[in-house]
Amino acid sequence: CIDQRETNHFSSRKRVAVVGAGVSGLAAAYKLKSHGFSVTVLEADGRAGGKLRSVSYNGLIWDEGANTMTESEPEVQCLFDDLGLREKQQFPISQSKRYIVRNGLPVLVPTDPIALIKSNILSTKSKFQIILEPFLWKKYSTSKVSEDDTDESVGGFFQRHFGKEVVDYLIDPIVAGTSAGDPDSLSMSHSFPELWNIEKRFGSILSGLVQSKLSTKKENSGVRNGTTGKRKPTRGSFSFQNGMQTLTDTLSKELGEDVLKLRSEVLSLSYNAGKSASQNWSLTYSSDRNSKNLIADADAVIMTAPVCNVREMKFMKGGIPFPLNFLPEVAYLPLSVMITTFRKESVKRPLEGFGVLVPSLEQQNGLRTLGTLFSSMMFPNRASNDEYLYTTFIGGSRNRELAKSSTDELKQIVTSDLRQLLGVEGEPTFVNHFYWSKAFPLYGRNYDSVVKAIETMEKSLPGFFYAGNHRDGLSVGKSIASGCKAADLVISYLESSTHQPCAEQ
Ligand code: FAD
Repeated sequence: CIDQRETNHFSSRKRVAVVGAGVSGLAAAYKLKSHGFSVTVLEADGRAGGKLRSVSYNGLIWDEGANTMTESEPEVQCLFDDLGLREKQQFPISQSKRYIVRNGLPVLVPTDPIALIKSNILSTKSKFQIILEPFLWKKYSTSKVSEDDTDESVGGFFQRHFGKEVVDYLIDPIVAGTSAGDPDSLSMSHSFPELWNIEKRFGSILSGLVQSKLSTKKENSGVRNGTTGKRKPTRGSFSFQNGMQTLTDTLSKELGEDVLKLRSEVLSLSYNAGKSASQNWSLTYSSDRNSKNLIADADAVIMTAPVCNVREMKFMKGGIPFPLNFLPEVAYLPLSVMITTFRKESVKRPLEGFGVLVPSLEQQNGLRTLGTLFSSMMFPNRASNDEYLYTTFIGGSRNRELAKSSTDELKQIVTSDLRQLLGVEGEPTFVNHFYWSKAFPLYGRNYDSVVKAIETMEKSLPGFFYAGNHRDGLSVGKSIASGCKAADLVISYLESSTHQPCAEQ
């Protein structure tokens, strides 16, 4: 958290440019501003928030991007405390009730071992395989690694530990619901780094999780004794009053109009070492208020734009082009987000809880969506008392072409799936469609090459730092933590360069 006593007044002369006003860029800028730096955030779009996008319309509230988040990262907890966001947090009703489709119908996901044994979501064989995982799990055979796929897939990893059915009926719908990806394409080490490391340390996932939980408990009892750590207990997923964009709106307001420049697409960045003691960077950006391109000078840059956008920017170093041909192309997953409302009496089997996910295999039972959030069940103020509001996702790596369908086609698909899953009758009373051509970067099995290229950029370009969901994890919480970490690196970089004699700069 920001300790005002720590803010350096000498740093007010130092300028930092942040590219991108998604949650990672805004969090980075907020931290730097609070430390007394002069910050400029350049955002290509006409609005701040990036993948956080909430709409209030005619008594309805919905999210077209991220719908909920968690606060496992200490940086998120600090940010909320600093921004006074606690009172605006909105926790869903019955969030532990989550459903996955099996044989065409929603089945409650078990949340403890007894519920798992009683549940019909998996066969008896798979249940035993889960319980006996500490004894039955198999080691990864590196002989299976091909040149293109340097990393184990999510599917391969979970199959070694829990068997194929767990991959098909738990992992597949979960990764589709959280990243629009599929278990075979996703890299385990990039998608689930915590579990990947647990296997390295403990072998078995189950016993590793139990042991890590016990050691966290020990650490927390240390916190209570005032000896170590600063993590608070968390309460699962949540949103905010008026939706997730409340978070980025609050950050934008704190930064102010002088800092946040909208409709300002960064076109080129130039690093000139030794030109002056400071302001080694100049960024050219377009501005629709002014027909000419504008220039922003800075001592350091935090880049949070997606890698596909960075590849389009021109970089110069010491007056000569710095080509980014070593930065690999990233694959992206398209997604359509459909909002529908139905009158309550038209929903014959409404389910209380968070939502329902559809495994790929259930396409054979006629289901074509990835999953649906029961938005107004979770947050009753999101629709009027006599209607339900649902948020449904279509596309991802499972069905890229379907994501691009027209609103009318998607309305039919959503209505048909909800008819089968919840017993909706007739047509929705309201429909809204939002299409993301690049909703998520795919953390594919050669994603290491992307991360290494980002590190090369940082090493080659002093004062350049990259943050956001292309690096440290896809979730909102991880994006915030990534922005805050980059801000910390900038702070130490600029403070150390301030203490150096000018001749060395
Ligand atoms: P972005 O939000 O992508 O921000 C990058 C910004 O850079 C953009 O505003 C862009 O306009 C700007 N930019 C690009 N090029 C330039 C340029 N040349 N000059 C200036 N600016 C530029 N996460 C969760 O935790 N929970 C969820 O429920 C969840 N659901 C999701 C649902 C959907 C449909 C989507 C799309 C994402 C979801 N996510 C969810 C993921 C999460 O929202 C994102 O990973 C996170 O918000 C990314 O933040 P970011 O700041 O890294 O990137």
